[in-house]
Amino acid sequence: MPELPEVETVRKGLADRLANFQIQRIEVCRDRAIASPGGVKEFTSNMSGAFIGEWYRRGKYLFSSLHRESSSLNPSEGHKAFIDGGWWGIHLRMTGYFQWHEQKTSPCRHTRVRLWNTTGKELRFVDIRSFGQMWWVPPNNLPETVITGLRNLGPEPFSKEFNPIYLEARLKGKKNTIKSALLDQSVVAGTGNIYADESLFQAGILPNKPSGELNKIELKKLCSSLISVLKVSIGQGGTTFSDFRDLEGLNGNYGGQSWVYRKGGQPCRRCGTPILRKRISGRSTHWCPRCQN
Ligand SMILES: [Zn+2]
Repeated sequence: MPELPEVETVRKGLADRLANFQIQRIEVCRDRAIASPGGVKEFTSNMSGAFIGEWYRRGKYLFSSLHRESSSLNPSEGHKAFIDGGWWGIHLRMTGYFQWHEQKTSPCRHTRVRLWNTTGKELRFVDIRSFGQMWWVPPNNLPETVITGLRNLGPEPFSKEFNPIYLEARLKGKKNTIKSALLDQSVVAGTGNIYADESLFQAGILPNKPSGELNKIELKKLCSSLISVLKVSIGQGGTTFSDFRDLEGLNGNYGGQSWVYRKGGQPCRRCGTPILRKRISGRSTHWCPRCQN
């Protein structure tokens, strides 16, 4: 599943590829990809003709601002002015990714949404498991008015709101494992299985430790480990694991450097002890029994 570094990599790819992209035509190949009110009909009619603006990421959500040419002339400059066209929101979920096609090609059977610009270039959304979602948010609305999942997101790991004091207060008295706390998007936005395991290794904390029992030193280590592992992975373009691909069809390089994730049975790179793998809180979890306690 794409996590923060992968979604950030996709954001950068979309921002690079779609500068001045005007959606001339749009085709929704599977209705359930569209989650905003009014479904496919509202989505396509409001997205058609819009220009794609700046790209943003919040947790694992992506958004682009949209604008449209105003029908009235800008009197001072003598050319058309732009007006707010709302927002385009996207969540890749398990297996969603984008492809960029300069030339006409036939879509694969997992193609969910296709968007063409005025010169016939295509942005294609492909999603094998088909859990990915898209929304159109009307002008003068914040994305969270339509995309309700945004309302419950915790702080971004790179924000100043995410710090050991916040984490201590948020986890106080909690009995769930620290692994499941890190996967909870209302605790910290954007973390998933890979970076939870990796940051717990770097912080030397057992994944099944009750989250409310972490002391101040552990909380401090965990905050800085999570931030550093995410930064390293973003620098590598995300991970090689899962079906993740960036816009150019490449997957990232972080996987090759992972300490514990998908290293079950292999010797720990730090101490040589075999890495353990077990389901914790319903998710496959990897850790070193010697380096983490
Ligand atoms: Zn070890």
